[in-house]
Amino acid sequence: MPTIRQLPPNLINQIAAGEVIERPASVVKELLENSVDAGAQRIELTIEKGGTERIRVSDDGCGIDPEQLILAVTSHATSKLPDDESLFHVGTLGFRGEALASIASVSHMLVRSRTAEAGEGAELRVRGGVIDPVAPCGCPCGTSIEIRNLFFNTPVRRKFLRTPQTERGHIVEAFTRLALANPRIHMVLTNGDKVVYDLPPTERWVDRIEAFFGGEVSESLIPLDSDDGQIRISGYACDPAVSRGNNRMQYLFLNGRFIRDRALQHALGEAYRGLLMVGRFPVSFLRVTIPPEMVDVNVHPCKLEVRFTDGGRIYSRVLQTLRHRFLSTDMTMRVGPAESSAQASGHAAASGSSGSAASPNEASSPAEPVGSVLGMSPAQEASQRQSVIDWARTGSTSPSLPANLTGVAPFRPFPGSSGSAAMNIAPAADHHAPSISPGTAPADSASPWQQTTGDAEPQSAPGDMAGPGEAATDPGPATGPLGGAISHLGFQVHNRYLVTQDQRGMVVVDQHALHERILYERIREKVLGEGIETQRLLVPEPVSLTPAEQTAALDAKEVLGRVGIEIEPFGGDTVLVQSYPAMLANLSPGEVLRQSLESIIAAGKDPEIRDLLDHLLHTIACKAAIKAGDRLAAEEITSLLEQRDLYQDTHHCPHGRPTALFFSRDELDRMFGRLGPRGRAGS
Ligand code: ADP
Ligand code: MG
Repeated sequence: MPTIRQLPPNLINQIAAGEVIERPASVVKELLENSVDAGAQRIELTIEKGGTERIRVSDDGCGIDPEQLILAVTSHATSKLPDDESLFHVGTLGFRGEALASIASVSHMLVRSRTAEAGEGAELRVRGGVIDPVAPCGCPCGTSIEIRNLFFNTPVRRKFLRTPQTERGHIVEAFTRLALANPRIHMVLTNGDKVVYDLPPTERWVDRIEAFFGGEVSESLIPLDSDDGQIRISGYACDPAVSRGNNRMQYLFLNGRFIRDRALQHALGEAYRGLLMVGRFPVSFLRVTIPPEMVDVNVHPCKLEVRFTDGGRIYSRVLQTLRHRFLSTDMTMRVGPAESSAQASGHAAASGSSGSAASPNEASSPAEPVGSVLGMSPAQEASQRQSVIDWARTGSTSPSLPANLTGVAPFRPFPGSSGSAAMNIAPAADHHAPSISPGTAPADSASPWQQTTGDAEPQSAPGDMAGPGEAATDPGPATGPLGGAISHLGFQVHNRYLVTQDQRGMVVVDQHALHERILYERIREKVLGEGIETQRLLVPEPVSLTPAEQTAALDAKEVLGRVGIEIEPFGGDTVLVQSYPAMLANLSPGEVLRQSLESIIAAGKDPEIRDLLDHLLHTIACKAAIKAGDRLAAEEITSLLEQRDLYQDTHHCPHGRPTALFFSRDELDRMFGRLGPRGRAGS
């Protein structure tokens, strides 16, 4: 008969350590958290050989009273739960009182600590859980804990340690998480004798983010802030142009604690749906603050996961906050070096306010309605607008243009080598003012290149490089949803790209990707609203399918119906298509069905209805959109470009590819040598 025995405390601690102290980085995490809980202003972490040889954390926090030192390394002893109720509204990082005991049971530990009141410090050594008597020592206020020979008495665990570089990587990650969560604490990381990070305290979270991830990330941050009185979400989402192949750059802090939460990661993915390519993950730095009683942090050994009392509410708040922010942000892909963070993150915001990035000419140019520039009456303008919108909605034949619109001289995409008139597609403001921004004016006007060319050339010279289909008329600037003056004129190159501009530079649009996105948004609106227009077949068309296709078709009958594809089983491997979306009239019903089934099958087993619908919308939008290679008429180009402003997320196609590339005017100026040393531009 086996006998049951009560385990000795040291073995209990080693077992506990097995859960919490997995590797050197776990020690680092626990020690750093204790320093934060102690109210430290400055925390220094020193490691040797990836922490396998030595880890030391020193802080200037409240210190530990000499009488309490032994309790600090005893299991289930903590200063952080003053009464039995406090477990249900934890406000500190630690509360279980077992970390120091666990670490001390599997290492050589030296604790030195002094409180502000004490005249001198006290030290305590523990070797594999065996505690030496407390002894006085000289030390500054605060606590320093040094760990050597980690896992010396648990050989199996020691064997599982990876190379010092790998362990160091995990430590740096633990340090990063804590330093990101606490920007007001001065944090220093030293590896051997090399200072890796020395991060002074800061009020600006961006500074910390930049210190770890550099300008590429910090300049693409889109600030977020929302508060419903209970749940506050703040921090940054990153422009989709900066993404990663995994979700490790999704930093989520709940009440100051780094956590991983699958549901919130999913919310993040949903928010970026259609903005990123498959397999790419957004970068984000989110802080969620909720009342402590709305979350249980006591469900995971390392407190890396938590349980919310109302997870659904937090999920939708995160999703809403991000979506709402993205709708007011222009995320067109930028080409060339990143711009300053104010410009990059506030591209949209800037154009609405003082326009820090735009020249005064542009910022103050009145946003005249399209029609008034062309001398159209409001009614003419409205009908013109409506017909082009309809065209882009349905992909049907293009509308005919009013005579007064066709009468405008086509612009010249690449007129000779002119200076300020070089691009006849400059915004209206530029027709009346030099096309150079004030900051660069002296260098530019001094440029011999500009003086000898350009301005003399008439702007309205007929274009000799633009064919009739490639030319567009200049409707002047219109006002985009973001408040800035945006010109919708553009021209087509290689029958696949549209070149246009906004007030800050040149935009190259992928015609298929943009049209696909517009149709996708349009169809989605319809499916969610009054329903999609369908074409009912007089004679239902029999389509024969593979067994897999047939199963998928019948399983998804209802979803197919919602996008206008009505089917009935017909016996054998055949189904009857009774109706299908009107905008796919150029395809055969069989083709439409098979394409849709492909996307249903691709959506995987038991897809959520929302995902399925989304797949179908993608397929329909893709099939109905104009293709690369389709030659567009001028009015089609204008219409398509106008739509960019009417729908959400038109900067990316539904598959997450960018629909447009942006070349800032500064960047173009730089590339042409018009910015920088005076001599260069003229040489
Ligand atoms: P917990 O953090 O869950 O309370 P620990 O085992 O990590 O458990 O620490 C035990 C106790 O030791 C803490 O409650 C705290 O009172 C004290 N302590 C640990 N580290 C420090 C420190 N750096 N500064 C001040 N007190 C500390
Ligand atoms: Mg602790």
